[in-house]
Amino acid sequence: MGEWKTQKNWEVEEADWNDTEKGREYKNFWFYKRPKGINIDITHRCPLECPSCQRQTEFLNHGKKVHGYDLDLSDIEKLAKYYHQFNFCGQLSDPVHHPKFIEMLKILRRYDCKTIIHNASTFKSMKWYIEAFKAYPENAKWIFAIDGLPEESHKYRINQDGPKMFQILLEAKKHLHLTPSWQFIIFSYNEHNVEKAKQMAFDNGLGFIEVQSSRWSSKDDPLIPKSQKYRLDTKR
Ligand code: SF4
Repeated sequence: MGEWKTQKNWEVEEADWNDTEKGREYKNFWFYKRPKGINIDITHRCPLECPSCQRQTEFLNHGKKVHGYDLDLSDIEKLAKYYHQFNFCGQLSDPVHHPKFIEMLKILRRYDCKTIIHNASTFKSMKWYIEAFKAYPENAKWIFAIDGLPEESHKYRINQDGPKMFQILLEAKKHLHLTPSWQFIIFSYNEHNVEKAKQMAFDNGLGFIEVQSSRWSSKDDPLIPKSQKYRLDTKR
């Protein structure tokens, strides 16, 4: 996949790719063979404090310790013999904070497991990221959370350095074979910037995932977008 200047551009290129032999093979594999996959929290660690996250709502806001522990590499090895797809979409943690995450990626590479990594914390160094991207460049899809333009993302992703996250995305593009994506959750403070962010992603050859949340504290949650087109509750 190349560089895209607009969403239309991207859609046309994706449609063309779907029609190639490689595209059909990929589609057949994922749609018809239904490989066994797992979504897994591998640690209890995350330095961010996103207000709607269960870390806060179920644990830290009540003075409780967040559940979980650092999974052993031997457990990942056992799982890799059975599952063909790993999704590290932390419900209670950010996978990059598992102390041996890079070794874990190397194991998954050895077993040829398709891997999806969701990352929002920016506390790891760029050097660490480069090592992580190089540990499994072929079949690891990285998705980075920036909720708003980079300089406003910390309004929800408390403690995050949004501009650094954007630099990490650009660096990821240099090393990974699968295009890294910018995931953007729409909130009241960023809804006017969705199109600008999308264009910024496409201008840099990145994927863009727009997410409409339904995880609100109440119907008066100040984070709820004002525009009807970004509100799931008004579409039911
Ligand atoms: S980055 Fe993920 S795990 Fe960490 S606080 Fe935010 S939602 Fe929760």
